[in-house]
Amino acid sequence: IYILAIESSCDDTSAAVLKDRKVLSNIVSTQKIHEEYGGVVPELASRAHQQNIVPVVHQALATANIDKKLVSAIAFTRGPGLMGSLLVGTSFAKSLSLGLGIPLIEVNHMQAHILAHFIEDGKSTPPSFPFLAMTISGGHTQIVQVNDYFDMEILGQTLDDAVGEAFDKSAKLMGLPYPGGPLVDKYAQLGNPLAFDFPRPKVEGLNFSFSGLKTSILYFIQRETKKNPNFIKEHLNDLCASIQHTIIAILMDKLEKAVKQTGIKEVAIGGGVSANSGIRSTLEKMEITMGWRTYIPKFEYCTDNAAMIGIVGYLKYKKSEFSNQRISAKARYYL
Ligand code: ATP
Ligand code: FE
Repeated sequence: IYILAIESSCDDTSAAVLKDRKVLSNIVSTQKIHEEYGGVVPELASRAHQQNIVPVVHQALATANIDKKLVSAIAFTRGPGLMGSLLVGTSFAKSLSLGLGIPLIEVNHMQAHILAHFIEDGKSTPPSFPFLAMTISGGHTQIVQVNDYFDMEILGQTLDDAVGEAFDKSAKLMGLPYPGGPLVDKYAQLGNPLAFDFPRPKVEGLNFSFSGLKTSILYFIQRETKKNPNFIKEHLNDLCASIQHTIIAILMDKLEKAVKQTGIKEVAIGGGVSANSGIRSTLEKMEITMGWRTYIPKFEYCTDNAAMIGIVGYLKYKKSEFSNQRISAKARYYL
């Protein structure tokens, strides 16, 4: 079975071809235009998707070296995401499925961040059911109990900002360009994680809150900059390391609680923030210290990509779960 998958939920235009569970190609075109605005501008995003989608799909087919007549079905991101961006991928997928006379499969982007673990890469083994998945991304922070491919239950989630936003907004406060998450990660590796102490939110149960952290970082930086105008520049590495350390502690605290509460020790992460090197190494250590089995996606399947849409497409294809031409994009699309 060959699946052609399309992802366009935010600011990455991506297309992939999968042969069963294996990825033959996974092309991602990241839109640079948003950098100068310090965040994603929805209007510009949809326009860029319109420009990118044809070349990206062509490149995915060319890299996979298969003719489009061989494709068994088209999978696409229906939501959640930016409406204008989703519409580009949705209408393109619909017309392609109509033109080729092959089935159309709608995919939930957040399910895809989790099911990316079932991509076969010849190295890692996928988690076994039931497992816990912590999805940490630009728009979401959730702890999900995954009983089966399409049987997922949210145990906890953020009450305000997503963890990716916490990274990006902290980065912005330090004058770093958008998206700041990867830069915080980079500088954190050179700094002392215990240099500065930031308060951790007190949130009941398995829910998260990140807006308070952002505010305390803002006040801290304002206070220190008043004393020393070069404070950020002189302490950038330590600031990044300490902020990242705090975020990781918040995440791990809830994850440990979730394991205790459910008794499930199969633990996976997914979403753009799971590309973070500190989170990856901290989770790896839990194998030894806590006796968990942990699953960390390959780097290229963490941030937005069409390969993860393709694996969901494949799993739905096997169940003959197809969509019809009346389907529309869904900006808010819950698990
Ligand atoms: P969602 O999946 O919730 O719809 P999204 O698709 O916009 O949101 P992703 O592409 O999954 O988000 O993740 C993007 C986020 O991941 C950004 O906030 C970015 O800063 C963050 N991110 C990426 N790499 C790293 C890293 N190494 N360290 C920290 N954050 C990172
Ligand atoms: Fe995403």
